[in-house]
Amino acid sequence: MNSLFPKPTFKVDDIISYAELVAAENANIQKGMNFQIKQEYSIFLMSVRKNAPYADEWDKATNTLIYEGHDAPSNLAKEPKEVDQPLSTPKGTLTENGKFFTAAQSYKMRLIQEPHKIKVYEKIKDGIWCYKGFFDLVNAQIVNTGKRNVFKFYLKPVEFITKKKQIELPHSRLIPTVVKLEVWARDKGECVICHSKDNLHFDHDIPFSKGGASLTAKNVRILCAKHNLQKSDKILSFPPVFLS
Ligand SMILES: [Zn+2]
Repeated sequence: MNSLFPKPTFKVDDIISYAELVAAENANIQKGMNFQIKQEYSIFLMSVRKNAPYADEWDKATNTLIYEGHDAPSNLAKEPKEVDQPLSTPKGTLTENGKFFTAAQSYKMRLIQEPHKIKVYEKIKDGIWCYKGFFDLVNAQIVNTGKRNVFKFYLKPVEFITKKKQIELPHSRLIPTVVKLEVWARDKGECVICHSKDNLHFDHDIPFSKGGASLTAKNVRILCAKHNLQKSDKILSFPPVFLS
């Protein structure tokens, strides 16, 4: 069972504005969890910033994005952070938590052949987003935090090679958010070569195909699409960077 997945408009680790996100999806995405907003996939908006509303995390050991479910709406719960995250609405229909939970369970029980596909965008800071690519929803759990029950969704990154074939991204492809924030501040949100502020991308100085690691700000920089393309797979040294 192979459905046709459209190619993502962005490359993984592209830096985009919210307007570009909306334009690419041709949808005004307001919520964090968007079940089957497109026929072929769903969309998660996530964040691991300190003041983020939910406890999303990248688990390095298992190369998994652990995405927290969402709280009851404030018109239904006085203290949404104090009560269990709901599986269903008062009318008895599934919430977004419930829809994704059902999709994950269906895959685990092999009621569906392919895991549910989720496209992920990460909020880096206000107005600045990063495209994280497609993920497989491989598991979901209800976890007790000691105070209440929350949903946890387990996502594995996938890369689309052709319509029918996909491979898992090695974890080193995922630049940690803290590194992105440091690089963004250091490079002043512009291409380090031409100072363009458009079509930006988090670039690694040593390509992963040559064994490069990406885990510190020293080997990550911002390039525009043109200079990222020119770089291709060549190993370049960095232009000097001065930290203020
Ligand atoms: Zn440039």
